[in-house]
Amino acid sequence: MREKSAVMPAQSKGAPPSGELRGDMAGAGQATGTGACDAGIVCRSLNKKYGSIFALRDVSLSAPRGCFASIIGRSGAGKSTLLEAIAGLLDPDGGDIELAGRTVFSAACRIPPHKRNVGMVFEDLGLWNHLTVRKHVELPTRKRGGADGASAADEIIAGLDLKEVAGRRPGELSAGQRRRCAIARALACRPEILLLDEPLGEFDPPGRRAVGRLIRQWHERLALTTLMVTHHVEDALGLSDYIAVMDSGAILQSGAPEEVHSRPSCEAVASLLDADFPQGGTRRD
Ligand code: ATP
Repeated sequence: MREKSAVMPAQSKGAPPSGELRGDMAGAGQATGTGACDAGIVCRSLNKKYGSIFALRDVSLSAPRGCFASIIGRSGAGKSTLLEAIAGLLDPDGGDIELAGRTVFSAACRIPPHKRNVGMVFEDLGLWNHLTVRKHVELPTRKRGGADGASAADEIIAGLDLKEVAGRRPGELSAGQRRRCAIARALACRPEILLLDEPLGEFDPPGRRAVGRLIRQWHERLALTTLMVTHHVEDALGLSDYIAVMDSGAILQSGAPEEVHSRPSCEAVASLLDADFPQGGTRRD
């Protein structure tokens, strides 16, 4: 039931994507990329194997510029591997990746992580123990240059409710505050692409909703293309324009959240989404 090309259609709830990407990728993605102005994240036929385990198995997905997409899957499904491949932290064994219309990985090309214009919040947050929250946010804004550096940092710090703890170092923060600090740092880089690995992991349900809303607001405000990995179905369904369900390294189904949830293509997707898959139900494959 695995979809060979997981296409995330562009029409959905209030997202600003500017067009629809088609599943037929034939002929696209030469070394310079398709240059398509509506391309946010495009992965084609990504594979990654560790010994006999496929961490990624022929993964193709297409997220239009400006969309908020989520990958849902159980532990070991390959979600983090996919994010790391997009960020450039690991090289797939094959396939290619295009970000904002530019090929960043293919047989002919490998753009290093710091040149991909990607903001990342990974599960181990990678905060700097010697720096305060403010410094975490100021450093990227200064690095980007521009007169608005300090005020942009202030705005992000306030926006993520970190004002009270802006002078503290990571060791003096709660787990949730550390997570928000990492999100603030990623936003301060003003990336085109934002990759989030379980960004709501530390929060209780009200916290999850509040921080989820904040992330979505900043996603829209900065016109980002965001890809979030989560185990939590509610977060994915509530925040995303598109979702893709992964298992055993492969994408099982993708599409608008309501559609995937109401019409799961197989029992595995239904089970992962806690959705109904009645006997005799309609399969989409
Ligand atoms: P989780 O939700 O638990 O973080 P995940 O969906 O992000 O899981 P991945 O971390 O992408 O899963 O791992 C996918 C598969 O690849 C798993 O079977 C994992 O054990 C394996 N794997 C990942 N990294 C390595 C590695 N460096 N060496 C060997 N196997 C690996």
